[in-house]
Amino acid sequence: MIVFKRIQDIDKQIVALKKKGLSVGFIPTMGALHLGHISLIKRAQKSCDVTVCSIFVNPTQFNDKADFDKYPITIDRDIELLSDVGCNVLFLPSVEEIYPEGFANKNNVDFGFLAQTLEGEHRPGHFDGMAQVVERLLRIVKPHELFMGQKDFQQQLIVAELIRRRKLKVRLITCETVREKDGLAMSSRNVRLDKNARTLSVQISKTLQEAKRKLRLEKADIVAIQQWAFENLARNKNVEVEYFEIRDSKTLQPVLKKQRNMVGLAAARIGGVRLIDNMLL
Ligand code: AMP
Repeated sequence: MIVFKRIQDIDKQIVALKKKGLSVGFIPTMGALHLGHISLIKRAQKSCDVTVCSIFVNPTQFNDKADFDKYPITIDRDIELLSDVGCNVLFLPSVEEIYPEGFANKNNVDFGFLAQTLEGEHRPGHFDGMAQVVERLLRIVKPHELFMGQKDFQQQLIVAELIRRRKLKVRLITCETVREKDGLAMSSRNVRLDKNARTLSVQISKTLQEAKRKLRLEKADIVAIQQWAFENLARNKNVEVEYFEIRDSKTLQPVLKKQRNMVGLAAARIGGVRLIDNMLL
């Protein structure tokens, strides 16, 4: 695996690869890699000749400075994992490399409701920072295909919209969430869960699963299921639920009665760690 820290160097490499007619698959990450990230690399290897992963903890998408400061960094282990899985290129830029003029001029696409609801409401500015860095990385790496996780459901919808609005020539492929054996969605933040919080954390996926089961019943009442789910999660005083919502999986608009394309989305703080998860219903 070749590691590049400078835009001009990775650019040369990408131009050379494309000249040879090779297809490029790109997996942007913030590092602290786990099997969820690795599954994206493996998926990219299936359809692209060359896989490029980036590790960049993007300061502009953290609305909470403490979350940024505490974000786990395990770069040596990340490099080992990526080499082992056969990733071809790692882009590992500094903050100055990505934002040479400071990072005041944020994303200038207005995503409207899609970025204002759910995560947008609880993490103001998060999606602007995310869209800003994803567009920047896409213009540097210029991949044919971009691989993202369903784990960040709202994020992949916004990136799809970003690609449309900016007319970027890349195909977005959203990959299934990889989970621990007990159902907890893998996340870099999971390493910060203490024993008690780790035990409680499984309730998020369990509640999503149970909501899914209840929804299948013939006379399912969406509003009641949503309320049940919220309360079920909030039952333990150590779980601080931010939202549990059943939404349209294309628009994220609220759903009042059973329809096609529904998704359950949840966010909760457990033992000081903010976790999100979702399930197609
Ligand atoms: P992050 O490093 O958290 O920014 O995530 C980088 C990419 O990995 C994003 O596209 C995430 O959606 C994806 N990802 C994170 N966790 C998982 C998971 N458990 N399963 C699948 N993809 C994931």
